[in-house]
Amino acid sequence: MRFNPKARLDTGQVSDGGSGGGGGMGGGGMRLPIPGGTKAGGGIGGILIIILFVVLTQCMGGGDPTGGGTGLDPSQLQDASGDSGRYDSCKTGADANDSADCARVAVVNSIQDYWKGELPDAASTDYAMTETHTFTGQTGTGCGAASSQVGPFYCPQDDTVYLDTGFFDEVLEKQLGGPDGGFVEAYVIGHEYGHHIQDLTGTMGKVRTQQGEGSDAVRLELQADCYAGMWARSATKTEDADGQVLISELTDEDIRLAIEAAESVGDDRIQKKTSGRVNPESWTHGSAEQRQRWFMTGYRSGNYDDCDTFSAGNL
Ligand SMILES: [Zn+2]
Repeated sequence: MRFNPKARLDTGQVSDGGSGGGGGMGGGGMRLPIPGGTKAGGGIGGILIIILFVVLTQCMGGGDPTGGGTGLDPSQLQDASGDSGRYDSCKTGADANDSADCARVAVVNSIQDYWKGELPDAASTDYAMTETHTFTGQTGTGCGAASSQVGPFYCPQDDTVYLDTGFFDEVLEKQLGGPDGGFVEAYVIGHEYGHHIQDLTGTMGKVRTQQGEGSDAVRLELQADCYAGMWARSATKTEDADGQVLISELTDEDIRLAIEAAESVGDDRIQKKTSGRVNPESWTHGSAEQRQRWFMTGYRSGNYDDCDTFSAGNL
């Protein structure tokens, strides 16, 4: 993935800082505290928390089909915790080519530009811009406190994507054997914004069954993968506020990394790593095969209706 050096980045879409004083760790020097440090113990706990967390946030969002009427202003929440200034130096696509932090800003800009154009046509729903908030250590969210053991998630209560940037190295790569590379994170952010889309369209509020192979929860997660694929297909057409293309190049290798990342967070893969046994009755996100396939469905077709996992007979 290469960014157009001339593109201007909008850092207003990304903020950083933890309520526990973890702000300003832009250098990436802080590491996830993995208890014990042997084998996969701590990281696996983290993964279980991720899964539970998604279920919890769905439960909390369940009473409000639109998911957007909580009255919380995410920008105020972030102001309260203080922004670390981590992204202040991210001005252009050239900065995004040089820095993982600035690449994150560019990816968020690209995803939001895509959905701003796509959602009104595809679902007769206006897109509402929403922030990504990164942290190391701890942060307060509209869905409760998040520690660094919690992986990336979307909180429907404050309409914010939360991302502990240590997740990719410490959990996805080291604990789950997932791939390393710029587009891995882009896929994950695309997936989380997929949940924001589901929040806006009301799909999130329709989730009734929380686990199992054919559950609503699994359908919701596979749909978010499909939406991430839709964005990836059109990523090189997305633009900054001045109409300059944001992403100049996306390679087959980028897509391969996204597929590999999707597989590494499949429920069967995680279960095999944690307990050595695969139990579809407790799935919440879908299998490795399903996750990569639904990502590719969105990527190949780019058609919103093709991501209707809730009507799909064969998931
Ligand atoms: Zn998800």
